[in-house]
Amino acid sequence: MKLVLASDNAHKLAEFKELFRTLDTELVSKAESGAAGEVEETGVTFAENAFIKAEAVMRAAGLPAIADDSGLCVDALGGDPGVRSARYTGRHEDSDADRYRLLLNNLGDRKDRSARFVCSLCCVFPNGDVLRAEGTCEGTILFAPQGENGFGYDPVFRPEGCDCSMAELTMEQKNAISHRGKALKQFKEEWVKYYADK
Ligand code: IMP
Repeated sequence: MKLVLASDNAHKLAEFKELFRTLDTELVSKAESGAAGEVEETGVTFAENAFIKAEAVMRAAGLPAIADDSGLCVDALGGDPGVRSARYTGRHEDSDADRYRLLLNNLGDRKDRSARFVCSLCCVFPNGDVLRAEGTCEGTILFAPQGENGFGYDPVFRPEGCDCSMAELTMEQKNAISHRGKALKQFKEEWVKYYADK
């Protein structure tokens, strides 16, 4: 069984390949499937964007496709950066540090620093079937960046129950509590159930 990951991000491909290794499924990248081109993320929720990406690639490749969409939601900022996490500064060429510095500036010294990472997964099949999963990781926004691991907003996010930032955790520790780790775990269960029912 072949499944396309609706992304050419090598980091994500490795993570997803690890999951599907145990599921008797060959995961291929978008490029390998021949489904080239960027898909515009026009949705207002993570779930919508994951569906948009998976459906476009499923149509282009003629194979089942899985996509994820993720980001950071900060309560005191009305849920921002949310689905705009990757383009928060409005400039594609800006760095992760530029984005988390803008976040720290916008939050200022506000007391309410509660936030969560969200990851939505969606798999669309050529027959129209859809599988979904979502994971969240609750936490707070620090006043200054800490740690060198991970990526994105990890240095300014302290996961609930930890006394360090997400960027101070090892990859293994992060995967055990992260939004993506939880979404993948839930998705695996959905996938097994889907094929058991066939
Ligand atoms: P996408 O799901 O690849 O579109 O990523 C959305 C953006 O959300 C990333 O570019 C990061 O800025 C942020 N993000 C998503 N997951 C994480 C994470 O695990 N740590 C830190 N930032 C993340």
